[in-house]
Amino acid sequence: MQSTPYHIVCIEDEEDIQEVIAFNLERLGYQVSLADDGKKGLALVQQCQPDLVLLDVMLPGLNGMQVCQQLKTASNTAHIPIIMLSARSEENDIVKGLTGGADDYITKPFSQAELMARIKVALRRKPQPSVLLIKNVGLDPDLFACKVNDQTIKLTTTEFKLLQAMMQKPGRAFSREQLIQAALGEQTDVVDRNVDVHIRAIRKALGDDNNIIETVRGVGYRCCSSET
Ligand code: CA
Repeated sequence: MQSTPYHIVCIEDEEDIQEVIAFNLERLGYQVSLADDGKKGLALVQQCQPDLVLLDVMLPGLNGMQVCQQLKTASNTAHIPIIMLSARSEENDIVKGLTGGADDYITKPFSQAELMARIKVALRRKPQPSVLLIKNVGLDPDLFACKVNDQTIKLTTTEFKLLQAMMQKPGRAFSREQLIQAALGEQTDVVDRNVDVHIRAIRKALGDDNNIIETVRGVGYRCCSSET
């Protein structure tokens, strides 16, 4: 069960299509951010690290193929599923899009019901990258191991899960409450301010590499992305 709503970025230059999609997504409880050209869309995805991207093929600025390619080759966005939106006449492009890393495509005109169904499927099979790596810090959720410069460090279960939640979405700021939800789910005996204690312990364990965790004033914490 996901406690915070899935966040979807829709990059589409046709205003009426954009409006209908946003309306339907919000009605279903998704959080939606919009961009109307390729460049802005790319920046938006990198900035807000959404759970899924809806990407039109024909766009001003960068076209959808270029945006897709860039997102799929950047380490901090490669895992985000992309559904391409294309006109029927662009089918050839779509084949390129799928080989370029898009996860699915849907041909215009499409029904909203079909689009919403495709989104659900894409979110369900969203791959969780197994080993997370930011700078010198590596986290393997399967082995429950954390290494700094190839040296294993000790974290408690709670600390490990908090760090994992942040490292899975580098660049995204989490409130303390969101961190508890993301890391611990139903387990609610950790009160809000305890997050600060856990973060302090994680930073101590990370030693010289503790700068991967940044304090976001007035919000909470985030892990920096590998690129910064
Ligand atoms: Ca278009």
